[in-house]
Amino acid sequence: MEAKRIYVDHSATTPMKKCVLDAMLPYFTEDFGNASTVYAEGREAKKAINLAREQVAKAIGATSDEIYFTGSGTEADNWAIRGIALANKNKGNHIITSSVEHHAVLHTCAELEKQGFEVTYLPVDEFGMVSAKSVEEAITDKTVLITIMTANNEIGTIMPIEEIGKVAKKNNIVFHTDAVQAIGMMEIDVEKMGIDLLSLTGHKFYGPKGSGALYVRKGTKIAPILTGGAQERNKRAGTENIPCIVGLGKAIELATEDISGHTEKLRLMRDRFIKRVLDEIPYSRLNGHPTERIAGSANISFEFIEGESLLLMLDMKGISASSGSACTSGSLDPSHVLLAIGLKHETAHGSLRVSFGDSNTLEDADRIVDELKVIVARLREMSPLYEEVKKEKKDV
Ligand SMILES: *Cc1c(COP(=O)(O)O)cnc(C)c1O
Repeated sequence: MEAKRIYVDHSATTPMKKCVLDAMLPYFTEDFGNASTVYAEGREAKKAINLAREQVAKAIGATSDEIYFTGSGTEADNWAIRGIALANKNKGNHIITSSVEHHAVLHTCAELEKQGFEVTYLPVDEFGMVSAKSVEEAITDKTVLITIMTANNEIGTIMPIEEIGKVAKKNNIVFHTDAVQAIGMMEIDVEKMGIDLLSLTGHKFYGPKGSGALYVRKGTKIAPILTGGAQERNKRAGTENIPCIVGLGKAIELATEDISGHTEKLRLMRDRFIKRVLDEIPYSRLNGHPTERIAGSANISFEFIEGESLLLMLDMKGISASSGSACTSGSLDPSHVLLAIGLKHETAHGSLRVSFGDSNTLEDADRIVDELKVIVARLREMSPLYEEVKKEKKDV
């Protein structure tokens, strides 16, 4: 009999929970109303959206009139950055971000550069961390936005968001954070952390794909990027995707009801995996911060091997993992995040991201390590570089 497959790519996406699906289903068929209409079906739809808005608000310490639904995390990031840039055009044209952001942020900043904005891409330390001090030093009298992610999707490093929030507040600059990887992994409180805008997406915490939200602090001026009807209080036009909005609300409620219990389980798997890999596979290193990292996520570089071959061989053994970000796999460029923390191109190419989730067990972590040991050894046998290293070792 074939062993069950092990899915350890929860940073790329998660399977939807059955009860989330159950909450969504009626809104595809019997409760199909358009929320902009005045009759009963429309009111029912409106009610469903309002409940989801409260669920999202509660999960991050906001109020429901500060939550706007979007079609994805990518859209939330685009809107936050473009919307603040556009609304503050007369004030300044400078944006501060980091070199390890998701492409939804980096490529949006690059587009704005073409339109005359100036962007500072802050470097990170060897663990992938941005310092609040470097943010403060980058501020000019033209700075209108600071955008720094809460937790990194490739290496899991958690940024000093509260400190950066203080710097932003002190200097009266709008602070956006892409918290897509952080929801359900750590307590988020937009008040305590001094966050003015926050992006999130349902499919990273067992909700539906194509559901996202942007939190916008009351009183923050932001231009819409989708124009048309009056939906989302005139800020995001287009008939609301009610099933997805309902699913997002339900999923975020479940994801944030027992964060410490959930992350404790993930941490055990992750730490067991990391310890065994580093102990049992030579020439391997952990990428990202040793402690300030999201619970389920491990990123390891193996010298002398090719990450793509590693992934294919793991896949043949029934293990679904990633070489970094789903959005860059299939491209030959090494990850911008791994280069930013100082890895050489060759080392970055030999990297593996394992992100544990709800369905995984400690046995899964063990089975992955057992398979990895065999696969890495086999791939190294084919590497001329590794042969040389072995020879040198014998010579000394
Ligand atoms: C997945 C992800 C996104 C993109 O969200 P989508 O809903 O897939 O568009 C943005 N930022 C980070 C950090 C992510 O991990």
